Amino acid sequence: LYGPEFMFLDQNKSPERGFLHLMPKTYKIYTLGCKVNQYDSSKVALDLEQLGFQKAEVQADLAIINTCTVTHSAIAKDKKMLEQARRENPAAKIAIVGCMPVNYREETERLGVDYIYGAAELDKFVAQIQKEVEAEGGVSCEIDLPKFKADKSRYFLKIQDGCQQFCSYCIIAYNRGKLSSREKDGIIEEIKNVTGQGVAEVVLCGIHLGLYGVDKAGAQYHLIDLLKELFQIETLKKVRLSSIEITEVNDEIIELMKANRKFSRHLHIPLQAGSDGILKSMNRPYDKEYFSERISRLRQAVPEVAITTDVIVGFPGETESCFEETLAYCREIGFSKIHVFPFSAHEKTPAFSFPDQLSESIKKRRASELQKLGDELEKKYNESFLGQEIEVVVDGRSEGENYRGKSEYYFDVRFQSSDKLKVGELVTIKNWQLI
Ligand code: SF4
Repeated sequence: LYGPEFMFLDQNKSPERGFLHLMPKTYKIYTLGCKVNQYDSSKVALDLEQLGFQKAEVQADLAIINTCTVTHSAIAKDKKMLEQARRENPAAKIAIVGCMPVNYREETERLGVDYIYGAAELDKFVAQIQKEVEAEGGVSCEIDLPKFKADKSRYFLKIQDGCQQFCSYCIIAYNRGKLSSREKDGIIEEIKNVTGQGVAEVVLCGIHLGLYGVDKAGAQYHLIDLLKELFQIETLKKVRLSSIEITEVNDEIIELMKANRKFSRHLHIPLQAGSDGILKSMNRPYDKEYFSERISRLRQAVPEVAITTDVIVGFPGETESCFEETLAYCREIGFSKIHVFPFSAHEKTPAFSFPDQLSESIKKRRASELQKLGDELEKKYNESFLGQEIEVVVDGRSEGENYRGKSEYYFDVRFQSSDKLKVGELVTIKNWQLI
């Protein structure tokens, strides 16, 4: 996987070879991949800051690359980030964390970095840094509840990890292993803490979020139960799910969204393909009929809901007519945003060796066609709200009395206010423009 360009690296530098001669005071995190990685990175950042580190954009003493290995191009980006980090500060201590150490441990070790920790070992990474800080006579402190940083408008909270779906193109089920859900008491405590500091919206993250709780003994407490309990927290104003599989968009979830204004009117539901044959070959556990039935149920209950999605184009065996079917189906559903991914096989997944692989030029052309449709649908959806009163979470200021914000329908807006608004605050506005 790692080509000869890495062979010149210093082979004598082994991971965890002891601590820094000079205590690093600044850190920089390069995050690749999904929202779960983003959450992990912000958690590491908060922990490091409690240890006395400061965030730096240049010349950071400690560079952390939180890697993603979901596709070959993701791995190429990891490698680029490593090169960039080395270029930015050749003297920096470098940590490679996340998915690469899980999947490619030996190769990662050959990269000659200072720390290597997998996605599930980030607490150990921070503990190691803490130990070294203490050994150096630096600040010693207990890492407890994260302090919320005022420059963040929404709080991403990982409550679930792992997936056992084994979609034929996806490495995550191999990477992240079996399902594991965080205990609800810790979640509630963390949310009370951050929302008590003025953050209105929490985004619940997970790899297979809809299966929250099923791995716990008795499996009696699910996502729906957690949501109901979270909605009781007075300081919490909005809850958004980072993503949910269509098979988990059950009637209870739909009814809860209808009944409770704290549930953001937005669901990210990965479609992946709009052709039943391709869905089957992807090992996705639904067909178009099922998908449509759930969406129409959802729209009956919450007509204005934003439904965003992920679609892979150029999957092995995707004929021109399969692709046309996907285009037509995306239009029929009327997604409010489509994240398009040209198929990029990971060698450890079954789809890597499927017959009828497509050329890069076909994938590129299909990706741009679908993206064009996605942009058209997004514009249509967003513009349908113009002139209406909407709730937004304040993201920051633009100029003068102008603010930026994210609506519960997931689009970004600009608006004016003579009030002094705080980042993270939830406001209702009537006069706004799309960004
Ligand atoms: S549901 Fe499929 S695509 Fe999603 S994480 Fe699990 S295996 Fe990967």
